[in-house]
Amino acid sequence: MLVFKSKKELNGYLSGIKQKKGTLGLVPTMGALHDGHLSLVKKAILENNYVVVTIFVNPTQFNNPEDLEKYPKTFENDVALLKKVSDELIIFAPPIEDIYEGDLKTESFAFDGLDLVMEGEFRDNHFNGVATIVKKLFKIVGPDKAYFGEKDYQQLQIIKKLVDLEKVTVDIIPCSIEREPNGLARSSRNERLSKKVRESAGFIYQTLTTAKSKFGMENVNTIEEWVEQQFKENGVFKLEYFKIADSETLLPISKKKERRKYRAFIAVYAEEVRLIDNIKLN
Ligand code: AMP
Repeated sequence: MLVFKSKKELNGYLSGIKQKKGTLGLVPTMGALHDGHLSLVKKAILENNYVVVTIFVNPTQFNNPEDLEKYPKTFENDVALLKKVSDELIIFAPPIEDIYEGDLKTESFAFDGLDLVMEGEFRDNHFNGVATIVKKLFKIVGPDKAYFGEKDYQQLQIIKKLVDLEKVTVDIIPCSIEREPNGLARSSRNERLSKKVRESAGFIYQTLTTAKSKFGMENVNTIEEWVEQQFKENGVFKLEYFKIADSETLLPISKKKERRKYRAFIAVYAEEVRLIDNIKLN
């Protein structure tokens, strides 16, 4: 297990690797690791000779300073979890200064509207921040493959677009959503929920799966109204949005078309904690 805290040190090591044969996988994370992150790491290990896991809480993607401040930082535990998965991982955990060099500038990208819907509507400039850091990490690491979770499905589409726009030669590998036993999508934010609310938060996934079962029979409006009603009746979880959207363009739909793929997307507040999830509908 190797831990690098600066891009200079990491580059020194990676230039040695790049002389050799074999592929390099990258798993970008913000730390506070859980089984969701580890599933990406395991997949990367299976598919590559070398794997870099980055642990970096990226300030430019937080539109809410309190959210950034409260973001859990559990570095020692993260390293221990990664070590259990493999002793050969390359961890890159730089300070903000090393990445942004005193200039916390966010680059602006033309994402063709992918950044304006759903998360983009509620988190101003969030995706420009995400793309800014991912572009930097691609440049620093130079991976053959990079792993992103479908948990953040909109982010995954944005990264694919970024790779197109910037002509980066990397394969983007989507990874399925890991869930807690009750169905709640694993997230570092789940730690901030009380035990009681966390146990009942399976309600979010249950609502998504029922919406999915309705998708074959009912129209989009009726399903959206049904979801809104479920949350009104529930009281504990406050619905921010529920949208049925095209899986590729992410544009919300009001009517299904043949041969298109759709997903349902949801954002919910529970005890001031913002949770997101999504499900493939067809
Ligand atoms: P984060 O540390 O939240 O930025 O997440 C790092 C990566 O892990 C992103 O690609 C996420 O989509 C992915 N990820 C987070 N939670 C899950 C999960 N429950 N299942 C699958 N991937 C996840």
